[in-house]
Amino acid sequence: MKEKIPYKIYLDETEIPKYWYNVRADMKTKPAPLLNPGTHQPLTAEDLAPIFCEELIKQELDNDTAYVEIPQEIRDFYKMYRPSPLVRAYCLEEKLGTPAKIYYKFEGNNTSGSHKLNSAIAQAYYAKNQGLKGVTTETGAGQWGTALSMACAYLGLDLKVFMVKVSYEQKPFRREVMRTYGASVTPSPSETTEIGRAILKEHPGTTGSLGCAISEAVEVATKNEGYRYVLGSVLNQVLLHQSIIGLETKTALDKYGVKPDIIIGCAGGGSNLGGLIAPFMGEKLRGENDYRIIAVEPASCPSFTRGTFAYDFCDTGRICPLAKMYTIGSNYIPAPNHAGGLRFHGMSTVLSQLYHDGYMEAVAVPQTKVFEAAEMFARVEGILPAPESSHAIRVAIDEALKCKETGEEKNIVFGLTGTGYFDMVAYEKFNDGVMDDYIPTDEELAESIKTLPQV
Ligand SMILES: *Cc1c(COP(=O)(O)O)cnc(C)c1O
Repeated sequence: MKEKIPYKIYLDETEIPKYWYNVRADMKTKPAPLLNPGTHQPLTAEDLAPIFCEELIKQELDNDTAYVEIPQEIRDFYKMYRPSPLVRAYCLEEKLGTPAKIYYKFEGNNTSGSHKLNSAIAQAYYAKNQGLKGVTTETGAGQWGTALSMACAYLGLDLKVFMVKVSYEQKPFRREVMRTYGASVTPSPSETTEIGRAILKEHPGTTGSLGCAISEAVEVATKNEGYRYVLGSVLNQVLLHQSIIGLETKTALDKYGVKPDIIIGCAGGGSNLGGLIAPFMGEKLRGENDYRIIAVEPASCPSFTRGTFAYDFCDTGRICPLAKMYTIGSNYIPAPNHAGGLRFHGMSTVLSQLYHDGYMEAVAVPQTKVFEAAEMFARVEGILPAPESSHAIRVAIDEALKCKETGEEKNIVFGLTGTGYFDMVAYEKFNDGVMDDYIPTDEELAESIKTLPQV
């Protein structure tokens, strides 16, 4: 199904898309395949079967099907909180005195507080359908774990979460939300897995990273009968599920005859950005329309802007597949900045390829500048944004201020991925003026890049 059917016909009476859109179908250069970490051969569905759910493997490997039907049960779940609001930021525009029109797609209006729920429910659904007992996962800031624990509770699946230690300690409430929904939560690195023990031996006192937690969760999934591992970002399947963000955004903008000039999203593993831009990127790839697309990442973990485009491990323990992506090295443990969801060393292979081919731009921003933007946004728009989302706010504001200088009335759309109510320790640091801007040196990054596998 590669034909260019306008996505609109896929909407049902609630304006929720009936199909996800797979941008890979329209990419001339497809993202490079995942490789077996031992043999360096492309991974097959069989190789992946001990780790991932069957249907999700199909979605992961499918570079050709443009539209994938959303199962009715998932659409019924989506109906509880979708379509999510697309809001015109009138008060922010006025505060900035900009002629630009700013819109944001708000994904924080569900109980889990972020866009992660869009993929959590899909992944939990396919695990349940396969007859599994449960799933394992990692969580950084806790949004993914929270979303997945909600989805697993809804479907009656067991869930074991490995939570990056710094977040486990900084965000005890996040942890309790997950436990309330029935998940077990272990701080990572932990003594409960082989890989955790090895990492602790090598880096005693480490505050952990997503890469460490992934290694532990995969180990537990492969060693327990009836369990598989699920991941909240980076993977092709996650970008596919998140395309619902972009499809709804496009529908709403089309309804009001608004064509975005600039589309902005924060990028951790790339799922919200990949989802938000999907239908717009599709048009760009097919030569039907042009948009400026900007990925925003933290200056403390600059995969796109200072990384290398190469095969690398997705995890610190080096047991996961190799992915060709922009990476600062799987050994790199980023400084504990406050946007936990953006502390991943790599990036989605889809976005990496698109960035490499010049279809999008990237900017890195320091965290105090991000919190300045977050606070301004909260005061004028009322929503208290997640630190991750605030990266996109920062650049949306910067672009709107450029319009103020030039007098251009650009349409700026950004993804507001979630709320920041569990991030008050970070806001406290900012309010007290004790937040710092850690930026890695070239030497540190060069040291980490040396550890890339030779492929
Ligand atoms: C996880 C998360 C992100 C970053 O993840 P992506 O996969 O890059 O989207 C951004 N914002 C929020 C609120 C998150 O929870």
